Amino acid sequence: MSSTPEVLPFQAEVAQVLRLVVHSLYSQREVFLRELVSNASDALDKLRFCAITDPSLLAGDDRLGIRIHADESAKTLTISDTGIGMSRDELVKNLGTVAHSGSKALLEELTKRGEGSAPSLIGQFGVGFYSAFLVSSSVAVTSRAAGATEAWTWTSDGQSSFTIEPAEHAERGTTIVLHLSEAGAEFLAPWRVREVVRRSSNYIGYPIELEVEKRATEGGPLEKVWERINEAKALWQRPKATISNEEYEAFFHEVGGGNGKPLAWSHFKVEGTTEFAGLLYLPSERPYDFSFDGKQRGLKLFVKRVLIFDDCAELGAPWARFVRGVLDSDDLPLNVSRELLQDSSVARTIKKQVTKKILDLLEETATAKPREYEVFFQAFGGFLKEGAANDFEHRERLAKLLRYRSTFTSEGAESASPWVSLPEYVSRMRDGQTAIFYLVGDKASAVASSPHLEGLKKRGFEVLLLTEPVDGFVFEGLRTFDGKELVSALHADLDLDATEDEQKAYDEAEASVKPLLDRATEILGGKVESVTASQRLTDSPACLVLGEGGLPAHLERMLREAGQPVPPQTRILEVNPSHPLVKAIQALDAKEPGSERVREFIEVLFDQAALQQGATLDDPNRFARRVTDLLTKAAESAASA
Ligand code: ADP
Ligand code: MG
Repeated sequence: MSSTPEVLPFQAEVAQVLRLVVHSLYSQREVFLRELVSNASDALDKLRFCAITDPSLLAGDDRLGIRIHADESAKTLTISDTGIGMSRDELVKNLGTVAHSGSKALLEELTKRGEGSAPSLIGQFGVGFYSAFLVSSSVAVTSRAAGATEAWTWTSDGQSSFTIEPAEHAERGTTIVLHLSEAGAEFLAPWRVREVVRRSSNYIGYPIELEVEKRATEGGPLEKVWERINEAKALWQRPKATISNEEYEAFFHEVGGGNGKPLAWSHFKVEGTTEFAGLLYLPSERPYDFSFDGKQRGLKLFVKRVLIFDDCAELGAPWARFVRGVLDSDDLPLNVSRELLQDSSVARTIKKQVTKKILDLLEETATAKPREYEVFFQAFGGFLKEGAANDFEHRERLAKLLRYRSTFTSEGAESASPWVSLPEYVSRMRDGQTAIFYLVGDKASAVASSPHLEGLKKRGFEVLLLTEPVDGFVFEGLRTFDGKELVSALHADLDLDATEDEQKAYDEAEASVKPLLDRATEILGGKVESVTASQRLTDSPACLVLGEGGLPAHLERMLREAGQPVPPQTRILEVNPSHPLVKAIQALDAKEPGSERVREFIEVLFDQAALQQGATLDDPNRFARRVTDLLTKAAESAASA
């Protein structure tokens, strides 16, 4: 053992995180207490967990707790715990590198977004141990790992290096001595510490004791005593009536919810053959360290108050992985493994109940706070759509939670909200309407002005405007909602609920353009399945629609880009028999049978329709040349008229 302290440099990234944390969080420096208390609580959780298999770790000392005391003359604040402790190597690694989760994710995000985003980013991440430097000119961490006899002290002024040296520590655990800077001097006052701990750490399930001076008897001498300043009962085990909203909100941070506020939560106890308690949160915004791939933290699982897994994705439906919270079961064994979680009937029951609670919570929130729910939906709706597409059992309930734009709510339309739900759509369906109409495309603006909507709009049908690729899959998977068929406006056999008169007019118009339809079929050959007279168009001359089982153009393109084999898609060209252009081409065709000009017009009509439904043209240059020719002729004749 060397007696002179060894000096080691911080990993370069640590120095960076430290600097950013200290600069960005100066005005909220009290967060250091929450962070250090949270680390102490984690260390106690770990000890309790390890002691399941190795009870000797408790080594006769089963006091699990956290103590805080200030020394006014030395200007220090000390926070100690009887948790798992750290070995020399752990001190070096845990406090000298960014190997741990929070800081690493923070740095990755910072590299992506630039340092200017540091203040808002740091607010989103757990800033962790380094927040100690918000209030300290130097920090000494002395720790004795459970089961070890030796102890080590880590010291640093938070600049570029730290020292490590052997030390004495009477009991298992960690003691952190903060040498308070001027900015931290306020935390020498016990009332200030008590106030912050109560507000931000009351949910901690271990006693937090503060050293205070009291007189045992009136007029007697002042004595130092330990006073418990938190409830010391895990938040989710306390009766709901005793918990304030502030406490629920503070606890959200503890379960990986970031620094933002939760949108809503559900706190419950399930009783019966399988008993467990749970506290689940819906986040209000997507934390920066949140990814869609399912690797992020899920629910914390406790068994008989012992934390077993930090990220227990197994106990909720896969689509519900944006939910944060804790579950505490008395029925699972303490040595539960991930394999067991997948197989055991207890775990299956829990998963079922949890998924039900999550759906209840989503429904309640959507009803009670509709506007906030819509904001939430923009951040997390993708998960609900995934569920509606994959989770057969809960499909109906999930479908009700989806929100879409529609022709009634999109720009210019008068509506309280820009979003509509399927139940809302159904509630305002037109008399006699039997289907729910929707249109999928890849751009909101293009979808809203698509010619496919013309007939539907004219007849007063609402059409849902879907702009994400997954929407198409969801709707095709659902097929029906509330007994109504979901019908894509891109499909050929749209039932537009025409009146008898309309049908008669249509039949006549169709007969009148019959020769043109035949001619177009011949010209377009293999490019279309057929050419028909359209009943849906009012303003546009033509549009392409999908035959039975046809893929919308944007999906076709997406699949091809992803390298998937897609059979060639043939479309049906619908032409508008009452459009002046169509009438004129028909007249020209009658006047000049077999005319080359008719071919040109029909091909341009087809290309235009292909562009409008989101396809790319085989030969865009030829299309441009033709349009230029046609425009030239039109301009010349306008000029000479
Ligand atoms: P996080 O808590 O997100 O992992 P922190 O910066 O808060 O990040 O802490 C870094 C690491 O240091 C922790 O993961 C833990 O391994 C270790 N650590 C911090 N405080 C303690 C403590 N009181 N007892 C034991 N280990 C600790
Ligand atoms: Mg921490």
